[in-house]
This record gives sequence, structure tokens and C-alpha cells, in this order.
Amino acid sequence: MGTLRLILGDQLNHKHSWYEEQSDEVVYFMAEMRQETDYVTHHIQKVVAFFLTMRSFAGWLEDRGHRVIYYNLDAAENTQSLSKNLQQLITKEAISCFEYQLPDEYRLDEELSRFRESIKIPTNAYDTEHFMTSRTELGKFFEGKKQYTMEYFYRMMRKKYDILMVNDKDPEGGKWNFDHSNRNKWKGDTLIPHERGFRKDVSNIVQLLKDQKVETMGRINEQHFNWPTTRADGLSVLRYFCENLLVHFGDYQDAMDPNQPYLYHSRLSFALNSKLIDPQEVISYVIDHWRENMEEIATSQVEGFVRQILGWREYMRGMYWLQMPAFAKANHLENTNKLPDFYWTGNTKMNCLKCSITNSLDDAYAHHIQRLMVTGNYALLTMCDPAEVDKWYLGIYIDAIEWVEITNTRGMSQWADGGKIATKPYVSSGSYINKMSNYCKGCHYKVTKKTGEDACPFNSLYWNFLSEKRKHFEHNNRMTMMLSLLDKMDRNTLEAHQKRAARIIENPENY
Ligand code: FAD
Ligand code: SF4
Repeated sequence: MGTLRLILGDQLNHKHSWYEEQSDEVVYFMAEMRQETDYVTHHIQKVVAFFLTMRSFAGWLEDRGHRVIYYNLDAAENTQSLSKNLQQLITKEAISCFEYQLPDEYRLDEELSRFRESIKIPTNAYDTEHFMTSRTELGKFFEGKKQYTMEYFYRMMRKKYDILMVNDKDPEGGKWNFDHSNRNKWKGDTLIPHERGFRKDVSNIVQLLKDQKVETMGRINEQHFNWPTTRADGLSVLRYFCENLLVHFGDYQDAMDPNQPYLYHSRLSFALNSKLIDPQEVISYVIDHWRENMEEIATSQVEGFVRQILGWREYMRGMYWLQMPAFAKANHLENTNKLPDFYWTGNTKMNCLKCSITNSLDDAYAHHIQRLMVTGNYALLTMCDPAEVDKWYLGIYIDAIEWVEITNTRGMSQWADGGKIATKPYVSSGSYINKMSNYCKGCHYKVTKKTGEDACPFNSLYWNFLSEKRKHFEHNNRMTMMLSLLDKMDRNTLEAHQKRAARIIENPENY
């Protein structure tokens, strides 16, 4: 008789109060399951990263004297279903109490709620002790408001946690937001020091996935696996970021380059989302490092980074719980097209897409602007079904867990929630991509040409999208200028854009 405590694959929080005391009455349970490898086709690096991190976490618990039952994917007793595994263990181990941490995904939250109702023994659900807000805090903050403006939420969080504040009320550096300084194109004139990486040999897990015929996408270097899979790894990525990359984080946050897949981004999202490290310690570490190096690192770099974690990350979690489960079906713009096959191969003549998709397939990673303004932009301009778009983003990225994937994809990128997260759709013609990146120089298409077969496809797609969807944006102040440019466009030019856009949407593989 004893307590069974479930630890899900993204609940690897070493600092959780559960582990403060060791007890022989408590047994922890973790499992690699087909239920989790198969609910979407994942990037192979994502599956490997989760399994490796779970295994190292189980080892860490055992080293501290905790009892752990861990099912490998091919364990004989593994039913491959969470509820069945739990039921089986409760019977086998004569468990008298079941406890779990609240899942971050609606799907698992529902499953565990149903499960706890179905069993006769006492159950308890605990907080994961990871986030800086509760599930419902954002909903309460915006109660009665028409808009869910991230900036107001972010300011509330700065005050609540006294982060980058002066006298409890004013923002440090005189401004709440330094976003306008964060819009530089990277011209190759600053050094981007590269990490040595972890170079882990993960061939045993890759073999396991092959043997068990788990379907995956993307590529992996089995001998040089480079993602953090222990807490020490996560902290070392954080340290590396502070010492080498923070200095230009804000400057080049929106920049893109064909040869620099990471630029000055931190690559902390997997360590954060699996909970190896927590947002509060990341923010404190970054701010402490900045205070010791204020002569070299400008406030704008630090504020830009803090905003991502304290602002956007917590905001997205709150918006997820506010909008689920309806969110997962939202399709405000009624888009129904299929996502082109080249999203799984990178085989396209459009250089921005080719590079962003190739980076994603190679590394299970693309930075925010590649996700938003290249792959997301193209999917929205070609009016792809948000369910298809979600599936791709949920599978391909190392950090993709539904609460943060769907809010960014369906909400921010595909405007499927009708503007709750993004006040205007993130769409652009080729000129934005050219302004922020070095992709267009190496492209088959000419970004400055508006019409003709060698013109940048984004140009026709952009005007076609605005004219097709204008009824949705007519009362949106932030779209007034673009719609008035659309209205001023002569009929023949618009028709030429519409015809070309139709050809691109019908036969994306030709472009
Ligand atoms: P950095 O640029 O170094 O930023 C630091 C940290 O800030 C990130 O690690 C992340 O934790 C947080 N952050 C930054 N932007 C966001 C954001 N918009 N929402 C939430 N947190 C943010 N992020 C995920 O973690 N998982 C996803 O599945 C995911 N899907 C996305 C899909 C689309 C279409 C878009 C546009 C963005 C998505 N993002 C997602 C947000 C963002 O792109 C990634 O967090 C970021 O690229 C991760 O790389 P990094 O750690 O180097 O981030
Ligand atoms: Fe992308 Fe157009 Fe630039 Fe080519 S020209 S890289 S398609 S934006």
C-alpha cells in the first residue's frame, strides 16, 4: 500500500516540492508511450529529447533515494496508454492513493480528470510549481475587457514580480518596451559565437524508435545530439546565452539569415517547456548577468528577452486555458487549403521557405520570425486549414507542446481566433522578408518584382489574401492603411495578382 505519483514527460521540475522528502511509501511513475509518440508525427529529435530527458530525470530521482517505476517504450508491461498503465499499476502495487501534477495540455488534463473519477482510491492534483501565473490568472486579469493586449498583462507581471522596476511603479530604463530597437537586419558584421554543443550519442534511442516503428519526421545526427537533456545542460545553455548572445539578443531578434539558423536566440525553449529550468530562475540569472555587465549590455537587450518569458510565454499559457477547448477548432477566416508537401521536404524555389523549413527539418528548431513571418505567413497567405498548420508545428519543433504551440500557431500566426491574440494578421509581402533577412539575394524569385513569373510569390499572395479576406478586416484600425492601398490598386494589377495567387495555391510544388 502506498501513493503512486505520476510524472509526465514535460513535468521534469527538479525543484518541485514533491522531491524534498524521500519516502518508501511513495512510488513515482514515468512512461514512454505510443499514446504520446503517435498523437501527431513528431520530429525525431523531439521524441529523442523527451525520452532522454525523462530517463535522466528518473535516474536523478533514484540517485536521491526515491522509488521510481519507469517504462521504456518496449517494456513488456507497457500498455502504451496512460490510463491503462496507471490502472494496471494501481492494482499490481496495491496503491492506496494516486497523485499527479496538473498537466499543461488540455488533452491530458481531460484524460486524468476522467481517470481520477473512475478509480475508487483517493486522488490529489498538484501544481507543477513552474509557471509564474496560475491557469486562470490571465482570464481574471482581462475579465470584462474587449481585448487581451499582451502589453498590459506584461506590465502587470513586471509590477507583480518587481522585475526591471524602479520604485515599484516605473519601468527601468524609462520605457516598458524597447521593441522598436529590436528590428535590425543582421548584416554579417557581428560575431555569433557558436556553442560547442553536448554531442551526445543517442543511437540507442534512435534504434528503439526504429525497432518499434515509430513514425517521425526530420533528421538527426545520432552521435552529436545537441539539445539539453539534464538540468545541468539547461543551466549551461542559459549561462552560454548570457555570456555570448544576450549582448545582441534584442538587436537581431527579428532578423533572419540563411547561414545562421540561431542568430542570437537562446535555444532555451526545450529546457523551459520540459521544466528542467524555470522561468523565474532564467529571468533572475539574465538580469543578474546584465547588472554585472551593464557597460557592455544595453537595457533593450534584456528587456526584449524578459518580455518573451515573463510576457509572451505566460500570456500564451493563460490564453490557452482561457480559450480551450473551442480554440482547437477555431477557424475564423474559414481557411481550408492543404499545407504544401514542401513543408516536409524543404523542396521549393522560394529561398526563405527553403531555408526555414530545412533548418526545421535539420534541427527541430526555427526561431520566432522564421516561424511567424516565413512558414506561418505563407500558410496564412495561401489560406491553409489551421488544423493542418497546427499539426505541422506541433510535430516539427523540439519545444512544441500544445499550450504554447496552438496559441502561437492558431492564434498569433493564423489569426484563427479572430484576433484575440494578434490584433492584426501577421501577413506580409516579400518586402518585409527582404527587409529583415538575407534570403532574397539567393532566391530564384525577384523580391522587387510585383508581377510576372519571376516575381516574388509572396507579393501576389499578399494582395490576393487582403482582397479575399477584406470583410474580416474592414473594421480593424490596424488594417486601414493596407486596405486603402488595396482599394487604390488598379483593376488589372489586382486581377494579375489574383490569377497568379490562384496558380500558386493550386500547384505549390511548381514554385
Ligand atoms: P528565444 O528567442 O531565445 O526566446 C526566449 C524564450 O522566450 C523562448 O525559449 C520561449 O520560452 C519564450 N518565448 C519567446 N517567444 C514566445 C512566444 N511567442 N510564445 C511563448 N514563449 C515565447 N514556442 C514554444 O515554446 N513552443 C512552440 O511550440 C512554439 N510554436 C510556435 C509556433 C509559431 C507559429 C510561432 C510564431 C511561434 C512559436 N513559438 C513556440 C514561440 C517561439 O517561436 C519559440 O518559443 C522560440 O522560437 C524558441 O526559441 P528560443 O528558445 O531560441 O527563443
Ligand atoms: Fe522569399 Fe520572395 Fe525573398 Fe524569395 S524573393 S526569399 S520567395 S521573400
